[in-house]
Amino acid sequence: MSVELIVFDLDFTLWDCDGVWCDCTCPPYKKHGNLILDSQKRSITLYSDVIAILQYCQKQQIKMALASRTGEPSWAKQLIELFDIQSFFIQQEIYPGSKVNHFQMLKQNLNIDYGQMVFFDDEMRNIKEVGDLGVKAVFVETGLNWDMFTSAIQL
Ligand SMILES: [Mg+2]
Repeated sequence: MSVELIVFDLDFTLWDCDGVWCDCTCPPYKKHGNLILDSQKRSITLYSDVIAILQYCQKQQIKMALASRTGEPSWAKQLIELFDIQSFFIQQEIYPGSKVNHFQMLKQNLNIDYGQMVFFDDEMRNIKEVGDLGVKAVFVETGLNWDMFTSAIQL
């Protein structure tokens, strides 16, 4: 399998909003080093291997995209900018609804077959729906990490 595109979920895959989804936080957000705090002092952090994984994919010229079904897309986009990771992704599909829609948009706009995509997500409903399209869908248990990533893309 040649991997053309890696697609990441946000909540509990790339970041942890102190145990909740980002649509349960309270903007405005403020950045404190590697940490973002919301107005209630809830901390939002990227899992520790995330930046290294994104940089690795960029170096290998593997395209990356986001697929999130958050109820607050503008909050998620603010967090992406505050973490300064927006430039890693060629497409961001961030809105509620089945991720089948998100992947149809990715396939259509990027002209990449589902069979050449790998998807990381922490929810079985998304893994099932997107996996049924023919995407290699990888269940993330406690945030994306290097070991899981490398075995999934068979490095
Ligand atoms: Mg998630």
